[in-house]
Amino acid sequence: MNYLKERREVLNTAREISAAKMVIGTWGNVSIRINDQPLMLITPSGMNYGTMSIEDIVLVDEKGNVVEGIWKPSVESPLHAEIYRNRPDVAAIVHVHSTYSTVFAVARKSIPVVLEETAQVIGHEIQTAPYASCGSSELAAHAVATLGDGKAVLLANHGLIGVGKSASDALKVCYIAEKTARVAMLAHILGEVNSLSDEETKLLNINFRNYGQEKH
Ligand code: 13P
Ligand code: ZN
Repeated sequence: MNYLKERREVLNTAREISAAKMVIGTWGNVSIRINDQPLMLITPSGMNYGTMSIEDIVLVDEKGNVVEGIWKPSVESPLHAEIYRNRPDVAAIVHVHSTYSTVFAVARKSIPVVLEETAQVIGHEIQTAPYASCGSSELAAHAVATLGDGKAVLLANHGLIGVGKSASDALKVCYIAEKTARVAMLAHILGEVNSLSDEETKLLNINFRNYGQEKH
């Protein structure tokens, strides 16, 4: 079996979305791109996260054909493949059905940039892609078009997609999107929801590149 490190990364992230209650049961999926090849490792469809092991992760090519593995890959493989095809900068994708983000996806509204973390890590409001059935190529096309060069996109009446340079990066995007959705809704109850300006969002996003300790 190849790509042990990458398989572990997918499995650990899949377990975390389940433990963090960003999905119920077997919903949601996680993938990573294999280097610069047209290959990805993706979670198997409808499999219990608690008992999933690294051998269960499926190696799939850009057309959705299984290259290595005995299980059916996630039904959202076309969506993951379409994102990788259009975004050479993206190396990992996390898809969750977390509650507050999904509220915005049901209302078909954008999650506004109301927190500095949203500006720093995501850098844009999170728009909802037009509705299409889960697993369809239409959903893949809508999601890619709405995501553009962004970090996150909502799927109407469904859930959230976060992308990044690693699985932990994409997971962080999902955590921050979810927190932002929650805070925006609670602020709405109190009254006005004040978003950060586009200018401030850009500034926070750029400055965040130097956040933390210098890498040696
Ligand atoms: P899979 O179990 O096939 O990944 O499907 C779950 C899901 O969230 C579909 O959108
Ligand atoms: Zn889903």
